[in-house]
Amino acid sequence: MIGELYVEDKSRLAFEPTTKPVPADERAKLLADPGFGRVFTDHMAIIEYDESKGWHDARVTARHPFKMDPASPVLHYAQEIFEGMKAYRRPGGGVALFRPDANARRFAKSAIRLAMPPLPEEMFLESVRGLVRADREWIPETEDGSLYLRPFMIANGSFLGMRPSTEFIYAVIASSVGAYFKGNAPSVSLWVTREYVRAAPGGTGEAKCGGNYAGSLIAQAEAIRNGCDQVVFLDAIERRWVEELGGMNVFFVFDDGSIRTPPLDGTILHGVTRDSLLTLARDMGAPVREEPYSIEQWKADAESGRLTEAFACGTAAVVTPIGRVKGVDGEFTIGGQSVGPLTMRLRSALVDIQRGHAPDPYGWTERVL
Ligand SMILES: *Cc1c(COP(=O)(O)O)cnc(C)c1O
Repeated sequence: MIGELYVEDKSRLAFEPTTKPVPADERAKLLADPGFGRVFTDHMAIIEYDESKGWHDARVTARHPFKMDPASPVLHYAQEIFEGMKAYRRPGGGVALFRPDANARRFAKSAIRLAMPPLPEEMFLESVRGLVRADREWIPETEDGSLYLRPFMIANGSFLGMRPSTEFIYAVIASSVGAYFKGNAPSVSLWVTREYVRAAPGGTGEAKCGGNYAGSLIAQAEAIRNGCDQVVFLDAIERRWVEELGGMNVFFVFDDGSIRTPPLDGTILHGVTRDSLLTLARDMGAPVREEPYSIEQWKADAESGRLTEAFACGTAAVVTPIGRVKGVDGEFTIGGQSVGPLTMRLRSALVDIQRGHAPDPYGWTERVL
């Protein structure tokens, strides 16, 4: 059975530095304009699991390809989960992570949903800290640069039977990144898909698993075909309640200064950015509601002017204004397509804490260097 066989003395994270680091001048060229998710660092963290040994062989080692059997269950049944978080340079030197404990908790929950052994949160944190320390030189010094960390876990082994695996590989890779959306677009446009849903009650919508993304790619392609940047999903049952984007949560701002976001009712990913923005908004004195919002209401409120701003949020793109929403039955724009003042305020408040430009009264940042 899957359980926690993690033994204290196996938790030490070994460090095997790469013998072939990317030369400094080459790295500098890559970091000048890294884009998103294209530039990878010298190292990776790995921890292995099997039923008899539990979690073992925790190490930070040279980044390398996996060698796996073609009957590895992740390749057939998608038993896979992941996380996304960032490390930021501090103004006075040093490096900090943003709410890594929240990612560790969510990763353990995703593991349980996908019938995988939950990685002890301390091992998750140590692996991420260890990789950031090993690859500190890879954090861009540009204004919107950071080191994007991608912890993930895959089922390994060699069998085609329908059952959870007993062998797993947990790993963390890191990517030097700049802004998520190219060209600093002031806002994104959304396509409302009527044909596809991302998640259904009882499904895996709350877990951060690759399968959710695999199933949403066709809707994202539909969005692009319709001249939009991103897809927005409605609920699976009534097909009218706004849930979220493929990989970002969504917020609405009204002319009375109040804020609304869909509630976490089992089909929406519990975003760390979402949670942080709710806290910041409450502390700014904005009335905040976690309540369902229908696509018809969104259109009506945008047209009447009651809705003044809308934005999407997540670790990768932080806070991104939504300027236009298009569906099979027409389109509408929000707030004249300029970035709304409350969106800006929330984004600045969040980014300033993440990057150490403002005090962190919430204890969200963790120095790792
Ligand atoms: C990761 C993710 C988010 C954003 O979560 P953050 O913790 O804020 O990065 C939102 N929706 C989905 C579907 C996601 O996978």
